[in-house]
Amino acid sequence: MTDDIIPTSGSLTQPDQLPVIVLTGFLGSGKTTLLNRLLRTGPRSAVLINEFGSVPIDHKLVSDQDIPLMTLSGGCLCCQVRGALAPALRNIRMAWRRPGAPQFDRIILETSGVASPEPILDTLLRDRWLSRHYQLDAIIALIAAPTGETILDRYVEAQAQITWADRLWISQTDLATPRQIDCLRARLEQLAPATPIFHSGDGESALAALSRPFPHGPRPLPAAHQLTDHPFHSLAIHLPEPVAWRSLQQILRQVLESHDEVVRIKGMVHLTDQFDPVAIHAVAGHLFAPVPLQERVMEDRLSRLVFITEGSAQTLADALINRWPAIYGGPSPHTH
Ligand SMILES: [Zn+2]
Repeated sequence: MTDDIIPTSGSLTQPDQLPVIVLTGFLGSGKTTLLNRLLRTGPRSAVLINEFGSVPIDHKLVSDQDIPLMTLSGGCLCCQVRGALAPALRNIRMAWRRPGAPQFDRIILETSGVASPEPILDTLLRDRWLSRHYQLDAIIALIAAPTGETILDRYVEAQAQITWADRLWISQTDLATPRQIDCLRARLEQLAPATPIFHSGDGESALAALSRPFPHGPRPLPAAHQLTDHPFHSLAIHLPEPVAWRSLQQILRQVLESHDEVVRIKGMVHLTDQFDPVAIHAVAGHLFAPVPLQERVMEDRLSRLVFITEGSAQTLADALINRWPAIYGGPSPHTH
């Protein structure tokens, strides 16, 4: 192939081109959970994770910590940290060639929950070096069954993710009613009529089908256009001391009730009542039960929580600092 041909499907992969899977999906749609399933069942992978929050969390939730893993945090890959994508992919590729370096057969790129795939495609397809060394196999977009319709109503970012995807994955079907799943599926068929849809309950064969090279012709290059900023802000807090789950739960529930502009909370926390650290998740106003983590994923005793809000991060920081001592009795958290 000449330098000027836009890369096409994986079936035309040149020996020197590493396949790339782009994993996209709105905040809280379960990208890291799906990533872990893909890592367990698929070819050897390297992982590049982009997080909107200033304090990275997701890379610690990757089940296999021995794989080549890189994080781009503190901004969204489609806009604020877009320029970092090409150098990151170059570095991964260079490291791969070093003798003794861990080998892998593909890269999974997990985008921030607010990213539109379009500028990421643009970078992958337009950059001549990248398009010679990488082959975009598929864009997979996740959407959570219980909240998907609301998310699509509210956020153009979520609609863009669905529209640009080669395959759709409806996650959290075990938490949704059959009617919610049917309505969401109908909505997705409207937005992306030709795109295959899979469910999180579909089993291992669906996983294999999900990441198979997508058999389409040359991809159209996205039209270059001015990107508007996402209306989201991130606030990170550090807790120097372990916290009781009951107190933390009370604080987070109050935050979710009184600040409906908070779209997502995630964190890794040490609790006073549990030896191992836990992962904390809240999405669309719902706080999930803490998920135990292996102790080795956290190398220090510092707990971290990241809030993604459509409102002002400062207002949220003030609310947290005011509320904290009354409920917890301990010192206020450090905010970033
Ligand atoms: Zn962006």
